[in-house]
Amino acid sequence: MTWKTYRTLAGFFAVLSFAAGAAGQAPARRQPNLGGEVMILEYHHLGNTDGRWRRSFASFDRDLAALEAGGYRPVTLRQLAAGKFTLPAGTTPVVLTFDDSLLHQVKFTPQGKVAPDCGLARWLAFSRQHPDFPMRGVFFVNSAYHLAFRQSQFTRQKLDLILKLGGEVGNHTWEHTNLGRNAQAAADIGRGQQALERWLPHYTIVSFALPYGIFPHPPSLAWAGSWRDPRGRLVRWNYRNVVLVGDGPAPSPYARRFDPHRLPRIQVFDHALSRWLHYFQTHPRRRFVSDGRNHPLHFLSGR
Ligand SMILES: [Zn+2]
Repeated sequence: MTWKTYRTLAGFFAVLSFAAGAAGQAPARRQPNLGGEVMILEYHHLGNTDGRWRRSFASFDRDLAALEAGGYRPVTLRQLAAGKFTLPAGTTPVVLTFDDSLLHQVKFTPQGKVAPDCGLARWLAFSRQHPDFPMRGVFFVNSAYHLAFRQSQFTRQKLDLILKLGGEVGNHTWEHTNLGRNAQAAADIGRGQQALERWLPHYTIVSFALPYGIFPHPPSLAWAGSWRDPRGRLVRWNYRNVVLVGDGPAPSPYARRFDPHRLPRIQVFDHALSRWLHYFQTHPRRRFVSDGRNHPLHFLSGR
């Protein structure tokens, strides 16, 4: 289907919901807008204080509450970019991503339970009160030196749990090098991919976050390539989605200018999120609004 068809469909459903409203049924609060923009949020450290690369748990709780109250509903990047999500009519998808696989994103107690002082626990607690905002976090992992989430005895369980809860795991390279300056960029991507394949042998990684938002040479290596490990084993990757570090909302997955290999994100620090929420409040036509139906995209081969 072309975007034009979607626009026609969106108009059609808008008329339908208006008619339903006239018949006495409450109309959808927001008219469907499948061409609007979507926020892909980006978190790094979570903890007790706020900072440029750090979000306090209290601020994170407020972010979740503001998003939920604003009619945003979480989806994974895999779902968003493939158009494979079904949200209630009038709501807007939002993606929450977490870079660098840091301890206070997903922390376990010594007994192997989710510790309360981590982003995952805060989100799970929030979703118990607000079942319409389930955990759909996208975790971009650096796997070098057993550093993924900083508790090597639990790495596999943590990754399994993220998937079991409905989240997504993506590659963020082995050791977070500047790929633009790294002559061995394929090795950094490939080793990260290989580590994730070992931890999650039945899972296909489709999303990649560029360290510092910097592309390798050639840029296409960020989404497709191969690397032979020191033992001669070949590792391949073919990522549908590549995310940048900044700086603004992403186009609708149904828009012509949607480029899954260059997806902008919004870094959540200070008042950045409130500003964007305010922006979409004052520019409602820029905002993606679901029509309550699923519209999967059929990717061309090689994407
Ligand atoms: Zn990073």
